Amino acid sequence: MTREHDIAVIGGGLVGSALAYGLARLGRRVALYDEGDVAYRASRGNFGLVWVQGKGLGLPAYGGWTQGSVRRFPEFAALLSEDSGVDLALEQPGGFHLCLSEAELAHRIDQLTRLVAQPGFERYAFDVLDRDALARRLPGIGPRVVGATYCRLDGHLNPLRLLRALHAGFLARGGSYRPNAKVEAIAREGGAFSVRTAAGRAEAGQLVLAAGLGNATLAPQVGLRAAVRPQRGMIVVLERMRRFLDYPLATLRQTDEGTVLIGDSQEEVGFDDTLATAVLATLASRAVQVFPFLRDARVNRTWAALRVMSPDGFPIYEQSAAAPGAFVVTCHSGVTLAAAHALLLAPLIAAGDLGADLSPFSSERLNVQKAA
Ligand SMILES: Cc1cc2nc3c(=O)[nH]c(=O)nc-3n(C[C@H](O)[C@H](O)[C@H](O)COP(=O)(O)OP(=O)(O)OC[C@H]3O[C@@H](n4cnc5c(N)ncnc54)[C@H](O)[C@@H]3O)c2cc1C
Repeated sequence: MTREHDIAVIGGGLVGSALAYGLARLGRRVALYDEGDVAYRASRGNFGLVWVQGKGLGLPAYGGWTQGSVRRFPEFAALLSEDSGVDLALEQPGGFHLCLSEAELAHRIDQLTRLVAQPGFERYAFDVLDRDALARRLPGIGPRVVGATYCRLDGHLNPLRLLRALHAGFLARGGSYRPNAKVEAIAREGGAFSVRTAAGRAEAGQLVLAAGLGNATLAPQVGLRAAVRPQRGMIVVLERMRRFLDYPLATLRQTDEGTVLIGDSQEEVGFDDTLATAVLATLASRAVQVFPFLRDARVNRTWAALRVMSPDGFPIYEQSAAAPGAFVVTCHSGVTLAAAHALLLAPLIAAGDLGADLSPFSSERLNVQKAA
């Protein structure tokens, strides 16, 4: 058994890779374990929004945390590009949430008004646009669109490049990447964590569980809980087109290369990541109502992937009381939160204390909700 590393991070998706990169930047010796291509990987199937609008109803701290990440994204993208040579195609022009009926728009306004009015919520401004005002910003919208909300903090990027950049940046900073290394068991022995894979055992002084849906079985081994469940999401990818959309929408965006992505459904179907034609048809139909000219566009690809959802949908960040030095990290917006994970959370983990600001993200809140 060797103890070559200060920290073992389990899970090489966006969450584990952002943390591993952030920890390696701090000079820690980090080993990043990943299960490999057989794994469920939300990080390879997501929509690529860097999104604030609408997040945090029920947990005001989540709104502030998300805004903090989005505000740090330009700096984070620059650091990552320096370390990895990868351009994330980050654009943050603000984003729109379109509504297809007056009732939908009224509901949306009510939701955002309640969100930003919560005590302790870090307020941000959002605009409500009627159809005419929206048509000036988004030429080509269809007659069914009645209006939208807009938040200037929203944006998007290429999520596959983000993942590649995090891995390359991690390696450039001296990290040790261990692919095809499913962690089968973890134990605390003599003040260190022993991590067992098919290739053998290794020791590290600290442990970060960032294994997505795999956290549910790993966390209890070090006295933590991560009752995460899968939630299926599908995406439709159209052919590349001349640029027509300068802003990301919550359910439609055009990449820097011109490709149009339509997203993304939400279904509770367990560990089933197969495609359902009826769901894809609904996504496509809504997109055609938003931009009728998309009716003639070719569909190039479709896919389904599983989100990593906690019981209340908010992140869980926690250090084990039974095994100090072991942390669990899970969230459902790993693209948006990548900057916060690398630049804010990694230093707290390295210091061994998540601090009071992150206490709302402890799984304790789930006990309280259950009891209430
Ligand atoms: C359709 C869809 C659209 C989305 N859109 C957005 C969006 O627009 N913006 C946004 O911010 N987020 C979005 N998300 C969410 C985002 O993709 C996830 O939050 C993020 O990818 C989660 O990353 P993760 O690393 O926690 O999990 P995963 O990507 O699932 O990675 C977990 C990793 O852990 C590894 N692992 C598991 N068990 C073990 C083990 N025992 N040992 C070693 N390794 C293990 C696996 O190999 C895997 O690579 C979307 C998700 C989906 C599905």
